[in-house]
Amino acid sequence: MSTAIDIKNLSYSYGNGPVLKDISFSIQKGDFFIIIGPNGSGKTTLLKTISGIIKPQRGQLEILGQSIRSYTRKVLAKTIAFVPQMVQVDFPFTVSELVLMGRSPYLGLLGLEREKDIKIAEHAMAFTGVEHLARRRLDQLSGGERQRVFIARAICQDSEIILLDEPTASLDLAHQVRVMDLMERLKKEKSVTVIMVSHDVNLAAMYGDRLLLINKGKIVSMGRPDEVLTFQALEEAYGCMLLVDESPIGKFPRITLVPQKFSNSSPFKN
Ligand code: ADP
Repeated sequence: MSTAIDIKNLSYSYGNGPVLKDISFSIQKGDFFIIIGPNGSGKTTLLKTISGIIKPQRGQLEILGQSIRSYTRKVLAKTIAFVPQMVQVDFPFTVSELVLMGRSPYLGLLGLEREKDIKIAEHAMAFTGVEHLARRRLDQLSGGERQRVFIARAICQDSEIILLDEPTASLDLAHQVRVMDLMERLKKEKSVTVIMVSHDVNLAAMYGDRLLLINKGKIVSMGRPDEVLTFQALEEAYGCMLLVDESPIGKFPRITLVPQKFSNSSPFKN
């Protein structure tokens, strides 16, 4: 396997002290890679750094074997697609207009889409199951539909790497699974490297090939879900009582929150 992302001694500060502190790790091509960690630990900052939205003050970042500094904006956009955290959208675009925007790095000077671009957009909408919404405006969609439209735009970008910032936050259970299954299909059928920030440690356990746990801007651990999602590491990072056992549906950890009122019951004394 070759390397999709290689990060060495990366640090970043918004101005009030470091948010990412001397971080080094790499992500293999074709992996479903999930970044987890408590609020404010630097997950979004790390994802924005990989996407090129923000530039680290220190360290190196290579994408597909080349320094991010050597990429033009257009080539970077053909290499990495970014699905931002779900925001309230009030711009007056239709679904097909937004998805077609994924083709902008491929358009000529006049910015006119060709037949091929429209076909790719239609394929992306079919892949995420939003083709029936093509003419609807974005502000007339449910949260789950909107999330799939933004994923369709990223697929339309036809990049080798896709980054997603908490794509399942605020979705109901069925939509969470649907988004995660979509990403797994993208990885398997199109060999895309999927890099996701997630709040949900159980989804991360079920879908991630590799997980990165960060806390206070530093790496706590990286590896398979069973290596990263240990009781000690989670309790230390999140500072709450948890139970870690094996999921009834497969060989990966299941994490159960233990509310204070149950924390003295003997089975939960880890
Ligand atoms: P996470 O995604 O893990 O919740 P973030 O990367 O969003 O963490 O934030 C890490 C830290 O950086 C937090 O303390 C946050 O307040 C701070 N931070 C994030 N964005 C900005 C910004 N634009 N300006 C200043 N500080 C920021």
